[in-house]
Amino acid sequence: MQGLIIGGGIGGLCTALALQRQGIDARVFEASSVLGPVGAGIWVAPNAMRVLDWLGVANAVQRHGAPVARAQLFDHRGRLVNTLTGRDLEARFGYTITAIHRSKLHDALLAPLGNGAVELGKRCVSVRDVADAVHVTFEDGTDATGDFLIGADGLHSVVRHQLFGDVALRYAGETCWRGMADVPLPKHLRDGSVECWGIGRRMGFAQVGAGQVYWWATQRTAPGGRDRPDGVKRALVNAYADFPAGFPAILQSTPEPAIVRHDLFDLPNLPRWSRGRVGLLGDAAHATTPNLGQGGAQAIESAWVLAECLSRGGTIDSALERYETRRRPKADKIMRASWRLGRLAGVTNPVARALRNRLVTLTPRFVAMRQLAWVFRPPQE
Ligand SMILES: Cc1cc2nc3c(=O)[nH]c(=O)nc-3n(C[C@H](O)[C@H](O)[C@H](O)COP(=O)(O)OP(=O)(O)OC[C@H]3O[C@@H](n4cnc5c(N)ncnc54)[C@H](O)[C@@H]3O)c2cc1C
Repeated sequence: MQGLIIGGGIGGLCTALALQRQGIDARVFEASSVLGPVGAGIWVAPNAMRVLDWLGVANAVQRHGAPVARAQLFDHRGRLVNTLTGRDLEARFGYTITAIHRSKLHDALLAPLGNGAVELGKRCVSVRDVADAVHVTFEDGTDATGDFLIGADGLHSVVRHQLFGDVALRYAGETCWRGMADVPLPKHLRDGSVECWGIGRRMGFAQVGAGQVYWWATQRTAPGGRDRPDGVKRALVNAYADFPAGFPAILQSTPEPAIVRHDLFDLPNLPRWSRGRVGLLGDAAHATTPNLGQGGAQAIESAWVLAECLSRGGTIDSALERYETRRRPKADKIMRASWRLGRLAGVTNPVARALRNRLVTLTPRFVAMRQLAWVFRPPQE
């Protein structure tokens, strides 16, 4: 069986790896002419770490990333609201969260696939599912044929568009800036992550390597905004000037060209994840807002389940349907929970804000762990 994967992001690479583990051959086609995502870091949650373990790359991810010993949430005055400890996560789910530079995560996924595993400069423009094969055409005029095709081509998926036309994305009302700062953190912050919920703005950071700090910062604003390349850092330092002292300092220590900006969307109205021999995976199928740090983790879970379903025999159509049946309930639930968390974090009314903070502060650790269990549990058979 020969598979075609469109997109060499987290979803596409994990799919290739999971298929390889099941003895299924797949080619990966990536639109970019160079490998690897730009800037920024990522949280790899315990459920994703468990799947990466099954894929044989968890050790490499841990080696190149940093375990999050505690995730602390502060209010806009810098008062501690809640802490999630790595020890509790490890005890319950086998892994804590790993914070890692995105390019390091890519390297860890690419290593077992081998050189040349990803064909670069291959932008998919059309997909045809005919009789017993799928044909894909690339912008450079070349094409490829396989038994099935997986669109792991991200939020603005061309493959999804080929299957279902325009499916509306839902704007979360927030834009997110991310970057990597070259700055040594004080000792007590080096092994954890810190997030601060301000009024209409949030910011967080975590060390991903020696002297390397990944940060993210959101603001409620209209979509489609642009930054002046030589003014974005100053604008961010000003916008977060009233956050606790460490936050503006991290922004100040970030090389300006490495700051990336994305409007936040999810994808609540996709009718199905496949048609015939063509399936969708990762953000192409189940894009979520990043409030739970689960978009990439869900792509990793999907890759594992998809490969399992394809390895069990039967027709490809039915394997793709089984994959959706197994994965969709959790991915949809994550999307809804993440959306609600974003609303809660973005509350601006002072009374509602105080109530929210009180509620989060008073939630005992064991209750918080129970509430998170469905998120951090890896996929079951
Ligand atoms: C601000 C922010 C913070 C986040 N933080 C986290 C986090 O901490 N933890 C977490 O788990 N998730 C996080 N996510 C979500 C995570 O980044 C995504 O869910 C994940 O990257 C999805 O992977 P993917 O492979 O599906 O898509 P992508 O990463 O978008 O990869 C798609 C790939 O397909 C390629 N491509 C696109 N079109 C074509 C085409 N036509 N032909 C060929 N190739 C194509 C692209 O170049 C790209 O390489 C965050 C997201 C945002 C926006």
